[in-house]
Amino acid sequence: MNIFRTISEFTAWRNGLPADKTTGFVATMGFLHTGHISLVSASKAENDFTVASIFVNPIQFNNPEDLRNYPRDEKHDLTLLQEAGTDAVFIPTVEEMYPEPVSKSFSFPGIDDVMEGAQRPGHFNGVAVVVSRLFDIINPQNAYFGRKDYQQLMMIKELAHRNYPHIQIKGMPIVREEDGLAMSSRNSRLSKEEREIAPLISEVLKRASQLIQEFTPGEVCRHCERMLEGSGMIHPEYFIIADADTLKPLQNKEDATHAMAFVAAWLGKVRLIDNYEIF
Ligand code: AMP
Repeated sequence: MNIFRTISEFTAWRNGLPADKTTGFVATMGFLHTGHISLVSASKAENDFTVASIFVNPIQFNNPEDLRNYPRDEKHDLTLLQEAGTDAVFIPTVEEMYPEPVSKSFSFPGIDDVMEGAQRPGHFNGVAVVVSRLFDIINPQNAYFGRKDYQQLMMIKELAHRNYPHIQIKGMPIVREEDGLAMSSRNSRLSKEEREIAPLISEVLKRASQLIQEFTPGEVCRHCERMLEGSGMIHPEYFIIADADTLKPLQNKEDATHAMAFVAAWLGKVRLIDNYEIF
């Protein structure tokens, strides 16, 4: 497995690949788990070469404490990527990625102003900046992103539609622990008690898909929030049922043919997100 820390070294390798072969790309912030590796496997199945990046992107963190505490384990990440058959890993420093202060800014109306966008000012702009830069450097034909970050996936599809029409964006299923908890690098920061209660988030999402048969979206959301709060340890920031294509919160279930429930919740100092297709 090739490991590159500079753009020039990576580019020299990339330019040496045969023009008729395809490259798939998986962007990560490291502390890898089976969810990340599922993206690598999907890329390997569909491409001649697979490139992963590991970069904790400071400009997408709206909370300095979250950035400071973001878990890192490069050695373990490289072992997992190698075992998965990754061809090249790009691990730049912050200086390599941002030699100049970032001035570019993006706007994704309808996507960056709800849920994660509303709660984390500047977050999606930071993601769009880093993904654009990585797309420019890696120059893949296909790029793989998890539906765990559903809103991010929609934003990246829009970014590709506007600026990278030659890159196919592939949305991949959420990989969960056996108890239902969506895999996340941040799960490692949960205490034992928090980890034990955390699967309630996915249980409540599933429950929403049953409750929606009988109740309005608003009633379901309020009920689900109360179930999470009832745990005494999970503090929902939002619980929203929205149209899966437009992300508009649903007033009536008749207003959409495809809907998802989205949740962001705090367990102690850890903020987790998850989502579930409810019809
Ligand atoms: P991150 O390292 O958190 O920035 O995630 C890198 C990529 O892995 C993103 O496309 C995420 O959506 C995806 N990802 C993270 N967790 C999961 C999961 N549990 N299942 C599937 N994809 C995931």
